[in-house]
Amino acid sequence: MTHAPLYGGIEAGGTKWVCAIGTGPDDIRAEVRFPTTTPAETLANAIAFFRAHEPEHLAAIGVGSFGPVDLNPASPSYGSITTTPKPGWAHTDVVRTLHQALGRPIGFDTDVNVALLGERQWGAARDCDVAVYITVGTGIGGGAVVGGKLVHGLIHPEMGHMRLVRDPARDPFPGICPYHSDCLEGLACGPALKARWQTPAEELPADHPAWELEADYLGQALANLLCILSPERIIIGGGVMSQPQMFPLVRAATQRWLNGYLQHPHILDHPDRLIVPPALGQRAGVLGAIALAMHTAGGV
Ligand code: ADP
Ligand code: ZN
Repeated sequence: MTHAPLYGGIEAGGTKWVCAIGTGPDDIRAEVRFPTTTPAETLANAIAFFRAHEPEHLAAIGVGSFGPVDLNPASPSYGSITTTPKPGWAHTDVVRTLHQALGRPIGFDTDVNVALLGERQWGAARDCDVAVYITVGTGIGGGAVVGGKLVHGLIHPEMGHMRLVRDPARDPFPGICPYHSDCLEGLACGPALKARWQTPAEELPADHPAWELEADYLGQALANLLCILSPERIIIGGGVMSQPQMFPLVRAATQRWLNGYLQHPHILDHPDRLIVPPALGQRAGVLGAIALAMHTAGGV
């Protein structure tokens, strides 16, 4: 008797890992989450989960990883987390460790690319030829689909490090990026909010001026992305975007920065159709990893 294939997904985050087995949002057969500790212990937890659940039907496993990661299949360090400052994790060979233990094809990509893949398959980017996913959390990351395929190119997009115009009279805070100071991530990630306002982002009240400034930086970044890639949809996730006032502010700021130059109804009249939260919500990461496993196995 033959069984329909199952797919494994790992959302490999810097704080927690989520592993699941299934075929899509309505068919998750098993799921586990555990904190990110040492590489050896964390990878062993993931391996134990997949060994315990029907490994014979598992066609492939997809991994969406925190980074930076090496995605070049020709590179000796392909499949590794490379130069991360996270203690103990630099040069962790994720793909080889999982492949040797589990004997399945392993798909590997950045956490944001993988979340976007999930949204493209089952969520907010389902109908899109060109789409962008930005996450605004501990850092800021961004991935893109062009022609229905994830963009990799030379390395992978690093949208969080695009340069922005900062008005020092309005915002004297110099930014926290160790490479660029006031790039998008340096100005607008969660820890930048905390450093600028001396208050954790989640404790800033909804009417605090922090949010108008935050939205202005994100709007500037989105205007840049609209000019560069012409995405049909921009999905924004991450802890900072769980503030309900942020989406209307970001949409308005994007329109301000474009200043009427791009003439499309989704920009001018319906930015709520252009700039949206992830339809898969908190599950975008692990479901995207299952989507990546399907691609890796040749199932889609
Ligand atoms: P990570 O990026 O580490 O995977 P998150 O996307 O949850 O995780 O981002 C964490 C960051 O988001 C922290 O800097 C935190 O201050 C901020 N954050 C979390 N929840 C909220 C909230 N409700 N409002 C504003 N900021 C938040
Ligand atoms: Zn930077």
